[in-house]
Amino acid sequence: MTQHHPSEELLVAAAAGTLDSGAAIVVGAHVEACGRCRADVRLFEGVGGAMLEAIEPALLAPEALASTLAKIDGARAPARRHAARTARVPSRPDLPPGVTWPRSLAHCTVSRWHWMAPGMRWSRVTVPHDRDANVFLLRIGAGKALAQHTHSGLELTHVMCGAFHDGRALFAAGDFDAADGSVRHQPVLEADGECICLASVNGRLVFDGAIARVIGSLVGI
Ligand SMILES: [Zn+2]
Repeated sequence: MTQHHPSEELLVAAAAGTLDSGAAIVVGAHVEACGRCRADVRLFEGVGGAMLEAIEPALLAPEALASTLAKIDGARAPARRHAARTARVPSRPDLPPGVTWPRSLAHCTVSRWHWMAPGMRWSRVTVPHDRDANVFLLRIGAGKALAQHTHSGLELTHVMCGAFHDGRALFAAGDFDAADGSVRHQPVLEADGECICLASVNGRLVFDGAIARVIGSLVGI
């Protein structure tokens, strides 16, 4: 049973399409798995549509339609080429049995699992249309603890499988967390299985320990 959901502000932004691409992927992964948030996003999308319909119509310049159609035609050709390039399903690293990839990652490249520390691996998610997005997966073994850290920006996390406790709460499969610079935490894995998290960081993780800082900067999280 999901206990932790994105804030209403994040769900409104998801419905309005105004999240940055990293946040959209992580919030999208949660919404796919959570009926309650799916219903909320649909409601917010409906409100947005109703607001558009309520706007007073305004007269446009006579050539506005023709010039808009011309711009759309100009934009279509590269979009078609892009769709052809991304149509093949990119390869994915292995997941534990029963765990599936969120659809929000469909157009992303996901690297193989890289060693980070004993019992800890990570994978880089590359967003094709946003090379600056800092999105990654962490795969942490049962009972392991991630180094204590805080954040230079907003860290969003969707738990794909397993569970961890970070001193504030227990986060299990399907749960979502948002942590910023006001949160200093150390996720500690439950003893009964590994945990895979999909995360986006707007900024960097700021680790307490020197070794963790080196690993964090090598890995680029
Ligand atoms: Zn939810």
